[in-house]
Amino acid sequence: MQKILIEIIEDEKGIVNIMKSYLEKEGYDVVCAYDGEEGLEAFEENDIDLVILDLMLPKLSGEEVIKSIRNKSEVPVIMVTAKVDEDNKIDGLRLGADDYVTKPFSPRELMERVKAILRRIKKYNIPRADIIKTEDGRLEMDLEYNRFFKDGEEVFLTKNEFQIIKTLFSNPNKIFTREEIIEITFGLDYDAYDRAIDTHIKNIRQKIEDNPKKPAYIKTIYGMGYKSGGLDDASKK
Ligand code: CA
Repeated sequence: MQKILIEIIEDEKGIVNIMKSYLEKEGYDVVCAYDGEEGLEAFEENDIDLVILDLMLPKLSGEEVIKSIRNKSEVPVIMVTAKVDEDNKIDGLRLGADDYVTKPFSPRELMERVKAILRRIKKYNIPRADIIKTEDGRLEMDLEYNRFFKDGEEVFLTKNEFQIIKTLFSNPNKIFTREEIIEITFGLDYDAYDRAIDTHIKNIRQKIEDNPKKPAYIKTIYGMGYKSGGLDDASKK
């Protein structure tokens, strides 16, 4: 079985060593980089499954590193920061981090987050393909650039809306409960409640459906949750 390869980009050697030994104990392979440039180089050279990225780095900041990574990859990224500032947290998430830990953190907590993200990816078919299209060709989702089109016109979605559609469209035929949508879209410890998902879905339907009251692309399965419509497995290459 191929081992999972995790990259640590962090300039504090002591922290790198602790994280590395914990990750290796869990059975992961680890690549370490000690500044932003080296981090991007190592990311290019290896087939990385998950990145643990420090925010404050020499040469290139964590923000710059994640921007470059996101230009070409959907790889999960956990941001590590010493700043407790909420603005930085929001910034990191906006730039595409999947999760966040604030220093000082316990290695055990970090391991739980790594495992949770990897579980999420394995459990659900998070796509590596770049474009998802509905069978009728009317809706098109560009996963590389996070853009969405209907009949060739761009539809502007919020990050949350985009992530929710991505979850549904990446797994045609699967019915998602509201809890699953929250877990996949926002992460386990996101403090969302079920009805928030209904509101997002309502807003998405206004934007993408011809008739939001009779939705064709995001279907409600009563008593269960939601599923995509207009896609089959063959539409995913
Ligand atoms: Ca640092």
